[in-house]
Amino acid sequence: MNIEKRIRELYQLNPKTKILVEKIHEKAKQLEKNGYDNIRIMNFCGTHEWTITHFGIRTLMPENIELIAGPGCPVCITPGHYVDILIELSFEEYTILSYGDSYKLPGTRVRGIRSLFDAKLHGGKTEVVYSFYDAVKKANENKEKKYVFFAVGFETTIPSTAIPLINGLVPENLYMLSAYRLTPPIMKYLLNNYPEAKLGGIIAPGHVSAITGANSWSFLPREYNIPTVVAGFEPLDVLIAIYHILKMLLFNKPLLINEYTRVVKPEGNIYAKEAINKAYKIVGSYWRGIGFVPLSGATHREEYSDRDILRVLGIEDKPVEDKLPGCRCSEVTLGLAKPTDCPLFLRTCTPNKPYGPCMVSSEGTCKIWTENLPVRIK
Ligand code: SF4
Repeated sequence: MNIEKRIRELYQLNPKTKILVEKIHEKAKQLEKNGYDNIRIMNFCGTHEWTITHFGIRTLMPENIELIAGPGCPVCITPGHYVDILIELSFEEYTILSYGDSYKLPGTRVRGIRSLFDAKLHGGKTEVVYSFYDAVKKANENKEKKYVFFAVGFETTIPSTAIPLINGLVPENLYMLSAYRLTPPIMKYLLNNYPEAKLGGIIAPGHVSAITGANSWSFLPREYNIPTVVAGFEPLDVLIAIYHILKMLLFNKPLLINEYTRVVKPEGNIYAKEAINKAYKIVGSYWRGIGFVPLSGATHREEYSDRDILRVLGIEDKPVEDKLPGCRCSEVTLGLAKPTDCPLFLRTCTPNKPYGPCMVSSEGTCKIWTENLPVRIK
């Protein structure tokens, strides 16, 4: 489908979008007069990136507004050494259970094997599951086997293992490798370490905020003076978020606005947050290709450490160099490069044969761009 057709679809979906685009142009013009010639708005979440890219929202933006993707793809930032560890275990007595998008995530070619998918082709025991519930069911039905669940995700996913853990519903033959990562700390890290990202506004993630609460992003306007809007995933939600950000810039009043009140509460989901806190403790963690980010990971609390495969087997959570030569995924993730800046994009790296992590998951920017071609930047 070409971009014009997608935009027509967008306007048919909701005629208000056209009015909103005009208002965005109006505000952008006023801002340009005030010296804002390049306003970079980061959408944290991969699903926002999909909405923006699929509906051609970038092409509808005025010249002085740039929409950039952020770190909101958990698979993209999952360390390569976790894949290596699981590949090794799949040739021992363990069957590895993984979500479909982590299944093709490249490691660092331990044993010459690239991913859990490739491990299966070489005789390793790896399987895809659709939920942690499926993993529990499988382990209960096959008590003679040992399983390891590859727990990848942000705050939205963590309750799916935390709640069964604290309720004693995880069978003894099911272990986990927690690759869980937390989202506010990575934004802090990005802003503290990469001022060149020059973020003029942030569209905060809707799904994550449903758990953490809109208030978990209040530090962005308070500490960094960045207008921030928690937004839903319809095109109209994204356009409203952009409009709010421009208004805040115009009035020089950076605030936190929750546009997604139909799902996100200021305090989030208290039950889910309590479950996370009971099952996991927050620790500093490595993000693939990015580095060690303080207080950004979740590891099993002592009382559940017998479910943590790293502790059970005494394996050190020690990152190895996992930036693949030529791949610019970590820069794409930090908003410092676009997929089209990568020389491998759609050449050696494609959704069928992903080379880097951003091409693996449906939330990875490179994959989203590939599947919604052409992506016109301006
Ligand atoms: S196109 Fe592939 S190799 Fe290039 S940055 Fe994206 S994931 Fe990495």
